[in-house]
Amino acid sequence: MDIKNVTVAGSGVLGYQIAFQSAFHGYSVTVYDINDEVLEKAKGKFDILSAAFKRDLNARQEEIDAAKNRLAYSSDLGEATKDADLLIEAVPESPQIKIDFYHKLAKVAPEKTIFATNSSTLLPSQFADETGRPEKFLALHFANEIWKHNTAEIMGHPGTDKAVFDKVVSFSKTIGMVALPLHKEQPGYIVNSLLVPLLTAATNLLVDGVSDAETIDKTWMVATGAPLGPFAILDVVGITTAYNINKMAADATGDPLKVKTVAYLKEQFIDENKLGVSTGEGFYTY
Ligand code: NAD
Repeated sequence: MDIKNVTVAGSGVLGYQIAFQSAFHGYSVTVYDINDEVLEKAKGKFDILSAAFKRDLNARQEEIDAAKNRLAYSSDLGEATKDADLLIEAVPESPQIKIDFYHKLAKVAPEKTIFATNSSTLLPSQFADETGRPEKFLALHFANEIWKHNTAEIMGHPGTDKAVFDKVVSFSKTIGMVALPLHKEQPGYIVNSLLVPLLTAATNLLVDGVSDAETIDKTWMVATGAPLGPFAILDVVGITTAYNINKMAADATGDPLKVKTVAYLKEQFIDENKLGVSTGEGFYTY
């Protein structure tokens, strides 16, 4: 059975991007969220994404119009999933919300539907049993601004059926993604397993007084040929995320350098509303 109909659960930052991307590439997509007001808000994002697709991908108006015609919306989970070959879950990153969602979903979705979670930090094995169909469940993880940063990390749990895994790899390619299969579960997938230690090391060098942000970035760029250094990347990711990650580590370990990093990020950036590219200033000015 080929994937034709896709349902995306959660119409927030990532969910709506995934829905738009899939519709743009020819799939019939139903967007599900908790109520019609939230779905109305999601519909408002269509024009913003259309403009981004035109700007960044030279998308034509006919393609945008066709994508619009392939999008449906429903706040009734049974209705939203009745024809779904693949359901992509992008509900909030809270284990309890996800568990409640999978319990409800397991009751109404057809037997054929593959479930894929877009969770950034939780492992599919944490939810496999809640789905009622562990062999048809895995993670399909996209990055923000999916049309530009087109990674699709595909990660099963030990009970995922290999044929289901391969089908989701193929699906991701058909919506313009670079498919990145993982052979086993890994917190943070590949991207964040590489990126978080780099950003942490850079912040440690800065807060420990070893060097300044510009010099650390320059070192990384000249030495490796990378187009951005770690502090420029932090500005893109958003300093709030860096603050939250360091705060969790500081609270858990009491490590003095982490505690100093948290205070530094709070005083110099969070309190000053210098949150990175999104506010026009972070380590650099935009
Ligand atoms: P978000 O808060 O922007 O959106 C979540 C959406 O889920 C909202 O529209 C909300 O109304 C809806 N929702 C809440 N409870 C629900 C329920 N019970 N059933 C259905 N929908 C419900 O969140 P987001 O940033 O889009 O993140 C969603 C998922 O994607 C998370 O697992 C996150 O880890 C992952 N993710 C996020 C990013 C990112 O950059 N934002 C990147 C990769 C992966």
